[in-house]
Amino acid sequence: MIRATVWNEFAFSCKSPEALAVYPKGHHEVIKDFLNAAGDIKAKAVTLDMPEQGLPDKLLKETDVLLWWGHCLHDDVSDALADKIVRRVYEGMGLILLHSAHLSKPFKRVLGASGRLDWGEGGERERLWVTNPSHPIAKDLPAYIDLPLEEMYGEPFGIPEPDNTVFTCWYQGGRVFRGGITYNRGAGKVFYFQPGHETFPTYKNPLIQKTLVNAVRWAYSNGATQKIDCECVKPLEKLN
Ligand code: ZN
Repeated sequence: MIRATVWNEFAFSCKSPEALAVYPKGHHEVIKDFLNAAGDIKAKAVTLDMPEQGLPDKLLKETDVLLWWGHCLHDDVSDALADKIVRRVYEGMGLILLHSAHLSKPFKRVLGASGRLDWGEGGERERLWVTNPSHPIAKDLPAYIDLPLEEMYGEPFGIPEPDNTVFTCWYQGGRVFRGGITYNRGAGKVFYFQPGHETFPTYKNPLIQKTLVNAVRWAYSNGATQKIDCECVKPLEKLN
């Protein structure tokens, strides 16, 4: 079983009447449930207000893939926790950064980037084009996914050039965005996925759910942990 942890800041924006009408228990619970329904994933959901900001060392160590959603409280996440997450990615933990996590400490630190973008209020139709159909995250997906309402994120996106651009997003208002992108960092795999505003039912869409199940499976590194400390080692062969 792949051990996945879904982290949500679950702040006031997620507890507005509009958000609670769509996700009464928070979208992290919906994500947890559809991951658990996949059969090969054991997911748990945690929030910022829990002890040790939801991610005590033991849980972080026992997490194979971490999904991270933040929006309003990026600065409340401790630098120490952000550093521990980056270290776990280097060791081989998968990291899936969702929607407004583009300004989170884990995103900016693991990618060494600003995460800047243009954004639009109000919501508009979004079409996510699969621009790398042979990628494991696109397995069994159609050519594109239509979402009736999402928040617009537009280029230029402040990121390093991705290893793979699995999705390119188009919005009704005419903008485009590299909205599904992958990286390798150390032994870990990283996926950023744009849709997922807290007042839209995006995480209830079966194709979005399939994408995230695929992403968890792709980001899983078979449980292997790579040491990241530099060791002084003995030679394998006798030296002259
Ligand atoms: Zn949003």
